[in-house]
Amino acid sequence: MDYEKVIGLEIHMRVKSQTKLFCACKNSLELESEANVNVCPVCMGFPGMLPAVNAQVIKLGVVAGMMMNCEINKMSRFDRKSYFYPDLPNSFQTTQLYEPIVGAWNVETIVEWKLQNFWIHHMHLENDAGKLSHAGGKTLCDYNRAGSPLMEIVTDPVFHTREEVMEFLKELQKMMRAAGVSDADMEKGQMRCDVNMSIREVWSDVLNNRTEHKNVNSFSAIGRCIDSEFKRQKKIVEKGEVVDQETRGWDDASGTSSSQRSKEDAMDYRYVPEPDILPIVLSDELLASAKSQLVELPITKRIKYLEQYKLGDDDARILTANYELSEYFDKLVELTKDAKKSCSILTSVILALMNESEDISKISDLKFDIEQLSKVIELTNSDELSSTNAKMVIEELFQNWGDADSIVDSKNLRQKNDLWALESVVDDVISSNPEQVSDYKWGNERIFGFLVWQCMKVSKGQWNPKVFNELLKNKLD
Ligand SMILES: [Zn+2]
Repeated sequence: MDYEKVIGLEIHMRVKSQTKLFCACKNSLELESEANVNVCPVCMGFPGMLPAVNAQVIKLGVVAGMMMNCEINKMSRFDRKSYFYPDLPNSFQTTQLYEPIVGAWNVETIVEWKLQNFWIHHMHLENDAGKLSHAGGKTLCDYNRAGSPLMEIVTDPVFHTREEVMEFLKELQKMMRAAGVSDADMEKGQMRCDVNMSIREVWSDVLNNRTEHKNVNSFSAIGRCIDSEFKRQKKIVEKGEVVDQETRGWDDASGTSSSQRSKEDAMDYRYVPEPDILPIVLSDELLASAKSQLVELPITKRIKYLEQYKLGDDDARILTANYELSEYFDKLVELTKDAKKSCSILTSVILALMNESEDISKISDLKFDIEQLSKVIELTNSDELSSTNAKMVIEELFQNWGDADSIVDSKNLRQKNDLWALESVVDDVISSNPEQVSDYKWGNERIFGFLVWQCMKVSKGQWNPKVFNELLKNKLD
C-alpha cells in the first residue's frame, strides 16, 4: 500500500514593530541579552493593568495579509486563551481565534519547476510568552519576550511533500522580509513552525489521526521531522494500529520525536472574548497606508528573472533570496539593459567580495554609486575592458569607491582598439615570424593562437585579443 503525507503548518513570525503588542516596552532582540529588563506592569500581567493595542502591529498585520493576497477582515477581535505555564505571566494568551484580522487566500511559489498555490486558512495576531531556560535542576524565567507581537499564519492541510513545505516557508520568509513585516530569522526564534501531519492511502479521502510537532526551528529540521514522522505513522498504520492524536516534541539531535501530550481542543482552553480590548475596526486611512507599504512579491521578481531575463534557476533564487539585492539588481538592469551580465557581476563578483569583507555585508553598505557599476558593464560590453580587468575595477570601487572611468585610466586598464596602431603590431608580428606564418598558410591552424599571443605580447596586453584575431585572419587568409 502506498501512503501520502498530508501536512498543515502553523507559522509564528515576530512582527517587526517598535514596541510590544499591548504596552510601550520596546520590541527588540538587542534588549533581550539581559534577562527581565524589558518588562512593565502590563506585559507582566500585574493586577488592574489594561492593554492598549499597538496600531503599528495592526498595520503590519494588514500588510502581511495583503502580501499573501489574503482577505483582510475590516473587523477583528481578540480572545483570551487560558492556560497556566510559568512563561505566561497573565495565565492567558491574548489571541484571535474567532475573528482573525486576515482571512483566507493563497500564496504562490515554485516547487520543482512548477508554479503552485498553497491555501492559507487565516492569519491572526497574538502576544508571545517569555522564555524558560532549564539548568542545574532549576528553571529560569525571562519575560523580556512576553507580550511581543506575533502573527500566526495557519495553512490548510495542503502540503504533500517536504519540498512543498520548504519552498512555501522560504517564500513566506522572503515575502515578510521584503515588506518589512518581520525579520523572520529562524535561528533567532523570529520564525517558528509547527508541523501538523497525518497520512492517508494514495487516492483515498480518509485521513488517519494527525500529530502536531511544535516549534521545529530550522528549515532542515522541518524536513527531517517530516520524513521521520511519515515513517513512524506508516509503521503504525501498516500494523493495523491507530495513530494517537497528540502533540509531539522533535529532538533534532537524535532525529526522533516523543509524545508530549494528547491534543487539546479549543474547548480545553476556555476561550473567551477579551473584555479589555475593543474590536479592531480598520480605517480607510490604515488600509491605504498598509497598501503603500506593499512591494513587488519576490515570486513575481523570480518569474520575471526566469522568463523575461532568461536567467538560470540558481541565479534567480540567489537574487530573490534578499529583497535589497533584487531591488539593486533591477536598478542595475534598468541602467545597463543587460540582465545576464548584471547578474553575473552581482552574484560572482559583488557577493563574493561581500562574503570576504568584514564591514560591507549588505547592499546598503556599498560605498560606490550603482552608476559606476553600470559603467564597468558598459566598458566590458564595448570591449574597452577585459573581464579580468573589470573585476579589478570593481574591487577598487568596493574598497575605495570613486569613479570607474578614472580607475580604468589610472591603472592603464583600457583596451586599445585604435585600428592603425593595431595594424602595425600585426604587420610587425607577421614579418618577424615568417616560419610560423608559412606553417599556418600550409594548414597548421594551431599556430594561429601563437600569433595572436605574440600580438598581445608586443602590445603588452593592452589591446583587445578579439580585434587581433580578426586582423590576423584578414591578413593571412
Ligand atoms: Zn511591557
